[in-house]
Amino acid sequence: MQTAEAKAAHDAIREGVARLCAQFPGSYWQELDRRRAYPEDFVSALSQAGYLSALIPEQYGGSGLNLTAAAVILQEIHRQGCSAAACHAQMYVMGTVLRHGSAEQKQQYLPGIAAGSLRLQAFAVTEPTSGTDTLSLRTTASREGDDYVLDGQKIWTSRAEHSDLMLLLARTSARDQVRSKTEGLSVFLIDLRELLGRGVSIRPIRTMMNHSTTEVFFDHVRIPGSALIGEEGQGFRYILSGMNAERILIAAECLGDAQWFLAKASAYARERVVFGQPIGANQGIQFPLARAFAHTMAAESIVYQAAGLYDQGLDPGIEANTAKLLAADASWEAGEACLQTHGGFGFAEEFDIERKFRETRLYQVAPISTNLVLCFLAERALGLPKSY
Ligand SMILES: Cc1cc2nc3c(=O)[nH]c(=O)nc-3n(C[C@H](O)[C@H](O)[C@H](O)COP(=O)(O)OP(=O)(O)OC[C@H]3O[C@@H](n4cnc5c(N)ncnc54)[C@H](O)[C@@H]3O)c2cc1C
Repeated sequence: MQTAEAKAAHDAIREGVARLCAQFPGSYWQELDRRRAYPEDFVSALSQAGYLSALIPEQYGGSGLNLTAAAVILQEIHRQGCSAAACHAQMYVMGTVLRHGSAEQKQQYLPGIAAGSLRLQAFAVTEPTSGTDTLSLRTTASREGDDYVLDGQKIWTSRAEHSDLMLLLARTSARDQVRSKTEGLSVFLIDLRELLGRGVSIRPIRTMMNHSTTEVFFDHVRIPGSALIGEEGQGFRYILSGMNAERILIAAECLGDAQWFLAKASAYARERVVFGQPIGANQGIQFPLARAFAHTMAAESIVYQAAGLYDQGLDPGIEANTAKLLAADASWEAGEACLQTHGGFGFAEEFDIERKFRETRLYQVAPISTNLVLCFLAERALGLPKSY
């Protein structure tokens, strides 16, 4: 149960975010979408207002808020019709440095990330051959004296072209040389500004929505030993520890999308008159919207339950995965109902629906696909044999 104080604080966040978002109407996003361009002004405005540093402790210049407040920020951005996909990673990727980095690394990077002068938006885990099976990844980081040398390739590394730093998961020991298959991977914080053109190359991938995603190639790239975060070989554990937060925050974006679709569809259904009455008077229009509304409400309660458990320092794996599954389903259902409610106009760029429809579809696949969430729940919540 939320306290009155927390509710007032969240309402104030929502109002502030909504005011900021009002400066970035549909026409802004449509124009960027056409060019597949990065929403630089929107990201700068969010950074300057301090929203992207929500999770960074005050001692490093952040707002020191909890995950629940961060979820409120992202939900509101999406509820207003904007998209945080271009910058949400700036909020949470630093969590790995915060939890597992040395005191020097935190002091070196977190204040710049909090101020927005240093962008840590790229999170390179997925590879073309391993896909969801992260433990099969092949990019290597080989020790050479005090340095490491990187060789390999990542795919779907979003925002790499708009990031100063990148958090990278690479293999430091061969799979057959470690006791457990979860060992042998390590996390590095690398400075892309120094490495671009010096063994690191980035190739954009044009996708069905404007997402600034890329392939990143490492060709014998020398990085200092000081780029290692935490203990060598323990990187998979560090990445896993950040996944609950990521799932909860993405789920919050899905909630915002669902609410945007439902508001847009209801407004249209009240106004659009066909056969002499508003289309919203027909149960064929009402029911899909009402059903999506109910599913969104249910998803919202589990998203904030998961966030609350996370904020208590617990490990809400089942709740975070359930939240991601239900919220992504709710936004897709609401998007489908919204498009159908608009008939032909749903396909017109100027209504923003087709764009949001493409954007929210991603969350059935990334950052974790629906099937893999179900695999996890089957195993962890139901005690069924592990299938992945
Ligand atoms: C636009 C975009 C942005 C992304 N951004 C990032 C990023 O910034 N950083 C990053 O590291 N990654 C990123 N990803 C990668 C994303 O996390 C993966 O695409 C996702 O985890 C699925 O992996 P895959 O595409 O390799 O699919 P695969 O692992 O090849 O799976 C293909 C299909 O098979 C299903 N499947 C696989 N195994 C099983 C199983 N055991 N049981 C049932 N079904 C199964 C999956 O659910 C999926 O539907 C991004 C992806 C996209 C499309």
